[in-house]
Amino acid sequence: MRCPFCGNVDTQVKDSRPAEDNVAIRRRRFCPACGGRFTTYERVQLRDLVVVKSSGRREDFDRTKMERSIRIAMQKRPVEPERIDQMISGIVRR
Ligand SMILES: [Zn+2]
Repeated sequence: MRCPFCGNVDTQVKDSRPAEDNVAIRRRRFCPACGGRFTTYERVQLRDLVVVKSSGRREDFDRTKMERSIRIAMQKRPVEPERIDQMISGIVRR
């Protein structure tokens, strides 16, 4: 996995553990070149999902886009970030 800070491709996994009720694996990564730390998530992708917009137009499902919208909607509500991840995983699974 390429380092998002310096572009080095040789980064190390420091720790892997199940996340989001075991539907994802969270890996903490470290870049020996710049000392940067970042996290990646590994998920099953069963098939490509398509979103039908209200205009009838179709576009590829984008998990990040959905996550951003839900986070904005939940901003001032007492909802844990982990709960939002579970919510999205549930929607994707169904
Ligand atoms: Zn780096």
